[in-house]
Amino acid sequence: MTSETSSKSNNFIKDYISKVRKENPSKQVVTRFPPEPNGYLHIGHAKSICLNFGLAEEFGGRCHLRFDDTNPVTEDPEYVESIKKDIQWLGFGWGEHLYHASDYFDQLHDYAVQLIKKGYAFVDDCSADEIKKMRGSLTEQGQNSPYRDRTPEENLELFQKMREGAFKDGEKVLRAKIDMTSPNMNLRDPLLYRIRHTSHDRTGDKWCIYPLYDFAHGLSDEIEAITFSICTLEFEDHRPLYDWFLEVLETPNRPQQIEFAKLNLDHIITSKRRLLRLVEEKYVTGWDDPRMPTISGLRRRGVTPASIRKFAETVGVTKKNSVISLSTLEHAVREDLDENAPRAMAVLDPIKIVIENYPEEKVEELTGQRHPKKEDWGSRKIPFTREIYIDREDFLEEAPKSFFRLKPDGKVRLRYGYVIHCHEVKKNTAGEVVELRCTYDERTKGGVTPEGEKKVKGIIHWVSATHGLPAEIRVYDRLFTVPNPSADKEKDFVEFINPESLIVKKGFVEASLKGIEAGKNFQFERLGFFFSDLKEHTPSNLIFNRTVTLKDTWAKVATKD
Ligand code: ATP
Ligand code: MG
Repeated sequence: MTSETSSKSNNFIKDYISKVRKENPSKQVVTRFPPEPNGYLHIGHAKSICLNFGLAEEFGGRCHLRFDDTNPVTEDPEYVESIKKDIQWLGFGWGEHLYHASDYFDQLHDYAVQLIKKGYAFVDDCSADEIKKMRGSLTEQGQNSPYRDRTPEENLELFQKMREGAFKDGEKVLRAKIDMTSPNMNLRDPLLYRIRHTSHDRTGDKWCIYPLYDFAHGLSDEIEAITFSICTLEFEDHRPLYDWFLEVLETPNRPQQIEFAKLNLDHIITSKRRLLRLVEEKYVTGWDDPRMPTISGLRRRGVTPASIRKFAETVGVTKKNSVISLSTLEHAVREDLDENAPRAMAVLDPIKIVIENYPEEKVEELTGQRHPKKEDWGSRKIPFTREIYIDREDFLEEAPKSFFRLKPDGKVRLRYGYVIHCHEVKKNTAGEVVELRCTYDERTKGGVTPEGEKKVKGIIHWVSATHGLPAEIRVYDRLFTVPNPSADKEKDFVEFINPESLIVKKGFVEASLKGIEAGKNFQFERLGFFFSDLKEHTPSNLIFNRTVTLKDTWAKVATKD
């Protein structure tokens, strides 16, 4: 069922557009994603991307990518490239509709001139401080600027001089002339242009006056003939201004602004300023550190585009602010990887096992499925040898009855292989277990329980010590220990960084992973989902990042407390 026919969904904007299209089938769906190129995109932006590009796709329209580059000071081409890459990685495209707000500087200037001519804009000589003081507050009306009654002719001349560079930064501004008594602060003669003697990446030194956001944004939508201008809730109070520009300029296009609630997730932060601090002060290794909530960080962690899209769909689009649990995202990631990641075995904290009754030179090839539900993915060969590694966690010297893994004089089954029996525990001088001496039961190969014997309940993963490949395994966890690291105003959010958000292990992976390339997802059986690192992994230097655990371990922690 397409959204054109369905009734209510968890996306009120989709429902609204469906309704509009029912009443007016020729209404085009033209949306835009308008990032400011002053940082890397994060999971919140991903939601907006999925929404804008998704609606266009769904209703056979189009979505423009428009860089909102009206502020010449903070932008950086590195950000522009990363933004394009992230959108494409998520699976969306803008086709030929790549724009920049700076493409419209001439047209926006014309619109400003029209406003002046119509008596709807004036040049103000007041300083930024004076303007702020005269703006009033929510409980107090604003005051008219003493320059408000300049004639259109005088304003045109002054605006022209502003443009020609006759004045210094801050000496004059162009303001709309609306209503200083309006209860909506945005309508109290908002600023339209300010003087900035700064060159711009794309327009160079052509301009020394730059338009302000509210003016540039809405009218850029108008110029591009956007039909649905979707933005976050904080712009709700700006909508009357958005519409005012369209009305007084009698523009041919009338885009409609619709606001939705931002995506907020617990255990992460999305403020660009704070993310920049994490990078600059080296709490993380960069914007693409796998612990960052940036799209590039999630990608390097091993999160798939499909799971982000699924997540965005699951959380829906509403007008009510809420905080979504990070587990919801992790759940979407797990579901996708469970379906799509091949299986392999790895040992993160190796203890060596010597199987005394297994011949030294013998190598047997055991067989494992690549995916338990996908026959067509085939199988993998797993060499079994006299010396193997198991994970330290799977052995307990003083084990309770309920411990079904390996213990002294106990038995456990090796995945795809034999039942082994532990006879001897070897320790170093510090008392740490360094080796286990075991024997295997030849009759138990591939899950067989010999007649008359008790079934061995525990099954553990393992890697051949002679054939396994050394690998660095980066066990990532949540970056913050508390749901909202910025909540406590007395404390700096970096105090809540999880000291265990990255633990580096020197482990081993099964031989079938030989030559594996960067950027591959796996499930390491019993351990979680892992991803060969996009930046540092090579086929001869294996580095895997833990994407997510197999189960929600944080939920367990929370119920224990
Ligand atoms: P800034 O404070 O720098 O404007 P921003 O996060 O709004 O930060 P933009 O580059 O302006 O950054 O964002 C591009 C688009 O992404 C905007 O349309 C914005 O509404 C949307 N967006 C940003 N954060 C979220 C979020 N948490 N959830 C949903 N959409 C978001
Ligand atoms: Mg913004």
